[in-house]
Amino acid sequence: MQSFNPPIRTLMGPGPSDIHPRVLSAMARPTIGHLDPAFVGMMDEIKELLKYAFQTENALTMPVSAPGSAGMETCFVNLVEPGDKVIVCINGVFGGRMKENIERFGGEAIVVEDEWGTAVTPAKVEAACKAHPDAKIVAFVHAETSTGALSDAETICKIAQDNDCLTIVDAVTSLGGVELKVDAWGIDAIYSGTQKCLSCVPGLSPVSFNEKALDKVRNRTTKVPSWFMDLNLVMGYWGQGAKRAYHHTAPVNTLYALHESLVMLKEEGLEASHARHAAAHQQLKAGLKPMGIDFVVSETNRLPQLNTVIIPEGVDDAEVRSRLLNDYNLEIGSGLGALAGKVWRIGLMGDSARKEKVLFCLAALKEVLD
Ligand code: PLP
Repeated sequence: MQSFNPPIRTLMGPGPSDIHPRVLSAMARPTIGHLDPAFVGMMDEIKELLKYAFQTENALTMPVSAPGSAGMETCFVNLVEPGDKVIVCINGVFGGRMKENIERFGGEAIVVEDEWGTAVTPAKVEAACKAHPDAKIVAFVHAETSTGALSDAETICKIAQDNDCLTIVDAVTSLGGVELKVDAWGIDAIYSGTQKCLSCVPGLSPVSFNEKALDKVRNRTTKVPSWFMDLNLVMGYWGQGAKRAYHHTAPVNTLYALHESLVMLKEEGLEASHARHAAAHQQLKAGLKPMGIDFVVSETNRLPQLNTVIIPEGVDDAEVRSRLLNDYNLEIGSGLGALAGKVWRIGLMGDSARKEKVLFCLAALKEVLD
């Protein structure tokens, strides 16, 4: 056995995205104790920076020490009690994973379905709320990574509020890439991931809960069925002002990386980051058109950072992707679930949403297809 030296790739799939050298070098700094005062000071800065990224004043805003799926579970395991009716919108893979969470925690899932590649239809959410006045929560994916569709989170949250439902929002692919306003839109609980538009290493899941959501957690009649994700316990470590107590050993160096990527987001500014992602999408679209490659999602609901494009007739999906990887060190994504074999997913997330990388991707794809 020898040391592992990974090939140097350009990551333009559905995540992880390319990581800026500043973030990688932050991660290589010396490990200190997870209760060291210097580390605790950095944790407070991470919380402030995440509040900026989520556009929230929620005191409970912190990264869960595990990937996006654990952020998802943190929301559902704390907020769903056995017997709770939860309206869940499914327009791709990750809405389906939400349903799985609801059922595993004893909830009853009321499914609102939309076709893959389209956004969640707010009118269907409203109809489900009216048909189930005892529903407690509406859950949906803001940016469906399996299809590239963006849903109207503001309108769906308003409908949920008008019908006395809390909201759980998946922002794994949206955070940092498109507009997302947790407080202004009235989102009650939200989770994201570090490996997409934040361009940080995978393995952390930023979450944020408002007081309404925390009230539901505090007033549960049953214990949260996960020790690791029980917010009442995690807050003893991440809580504001309180004396920090050991809960689990935090992934110290991964948190250095998150801190650096959030400092970079703050330096760039959220709006500038959104504009950069939008510009990269426009550039990709203009370059794909002459190649006759079209998009799955209509322009109005299309995510700039996750481009699901139709594989041209007669082209071998796997062969193209492996030639891009082997000959150009370029990763693009395959289709998931119902779209497997029919589409490619080209990610323009975080540090991958740059002019020079879009040009490289277009040139490599053209060479392989010609
Ligand atoms: N939700 C969405 C929309 C995602 O795209 C992903 C991952 O791609 C997840 C949840 C799960 O995140 P992770 O793979 O980090 O566990």
